[in-house]
Amino acid sequence: MLTTKSQDLFQKAQKIIPGGVNSPVRAFKAVGGNPIFIKSAKGAYIYDEDDNAYIELINSWGPMLLGHAHPKIENAVRNALEHSFSYGAPTRREVEMAEMIIKMVPSIEKVRMVNSGTEATMSAIRAARGFTNRSKILKFEGCYHGHADSFLIAAGSGMATMGIPDSLGVTKGVAQDTLTAPYNDLATVEMLISANKEEIACIILEPVVGNMGCVAPAQGFLKGLREICTREKIVLIFDEVMTGFRLARGGAQELYGITPDMTTLGKIIGGGLPVGAYGGKAEIMDNLAPVGKVYQAGTLSGNPLAMAAGLAMLHEINDNPQIYKQLDDICLQITEGIAEGCDDLGINYKINRVGSMFTLFFTDMEVTNFETAKTSDLAFFGKYFQAMLKRGVYLAPSQFESMFISTAISEENIKQIIKANKESLEEILG
Ligand SMILES: *Cc1c(COP(=O)(O)O)cnc(C)c1O
Repeated sequence: MLTTKSQDLFQKAQKIIPGGVNSPVRAFKAVGGNPIFIKSAKGAYIYDEDDNAYIELINSWGPMLLGHAHPKIENAVRNALEHSFSYGAPTRREVEMAEMIIKMVPSIEKVRMVNSGTEATMSAIRAARGFTNRSKILKFEGCYHGHADSFLIAAGSGMATMGIPDSLGVTKGVAQDTLTAPYNDLATVEMLISANKEEIACIILEPVVGNMGCVAPAQGFLKGLREICTREKIVLIFDEVMTGFRLARGGAQELYGITPDMTTLGKIIGGGLPVGAYGGKAEIMDNLAPVGKVYQAGTLSGNPLAMAAGLAMLHEINDNPQIYKQLDDICLQITEGIAEGCDDLGINYKINRVGSMFTLFFTDMEVTNFETAKTSDLAFFGKYFQAMLKRGVYLAPSQFESMFISTAISEENIKQIIKANKESLEEILG
């Protein structure tokens, strides 16, 4: 596999863009080697600058649920294009978008459009703080909610009541308002709540985690959080930027039958264009300016091209509910095939899967939180990633990420992935 053009571009990029990339994980730091630069993509395939083809298992980190350059979405953007690209004034499509979101995610009574998942989550916690008049937030170790200061916090231990920033540039003042607990650990949540009585505005979580690799909520975890939040008048926020429209039409909340107070959306909702949204109970959302005193704004929010793409995506999903069964079938076949390859070769592994999200962890422990995810053999994963890439399968370049299946994956692609898995493992084992 020749990647000369990618290598040249990466050399140039590193001189003028920090690390050569506009989002850190793209740099392949966790797996070694240099990133490949992408030229185009269509359906199940992505093509690099050297014209190598790869089967897509990332799909832009989720948005391309229907595969790349889906004709319906492409047409919607083309049609919108003729009428200029931004007005900074309200439009018909924003009303249609809000109606569509509320129809598909019934816990949302009112919704605001923003330009990214990060904007959605940072605005949602501001709304929750404004609504409750409380300062602290509770998040879970290993959950990612975008790069706003309040979320870049890891606790020294689950017992810590004061957060330690995970990133330079996050002030101690901000960090001390973020409490963290291990995922799937209701006891620590209860402990933190009694230590911070009436100080916690919201609990925010990924109802199915994608950002420590795929981790499902344990039986009773979401229900337990729902009960705690109701009892303590804490706003329960499901960050469904990844899971929204992916695990079901109504996201993880539909799949597990738990109703949050607020929901954040992103990724799929923009069909590949930069879109995010946050919404929930009207009594919370009505605290936003211009009705209320919580300020949040955006020059490009509700952008006509982005709304056109997003609406086309949501209509396509809404009109074809069978895609969730299809996605589930494809992902099941892939993971069963991968598991068989691993078993044959005596690999230490665990596969976590929920619908069209899955992670192959190289560990023999059950992965239920960040602590157990970290028992994975990262060096082995790095070799596996490179071996798969060489065989034309584009995986997420980190052990702590989920794969995202699209409906564009064919039976033939599934066989190719399973074959590449077996050959890659054999190559590593020598
Ligand atoms: C990707 C992601 C975000 C951040 O969204 P951006 O559009 O990258 O800002 C937030 N929360 C979750 C769960 C995500 O997966």
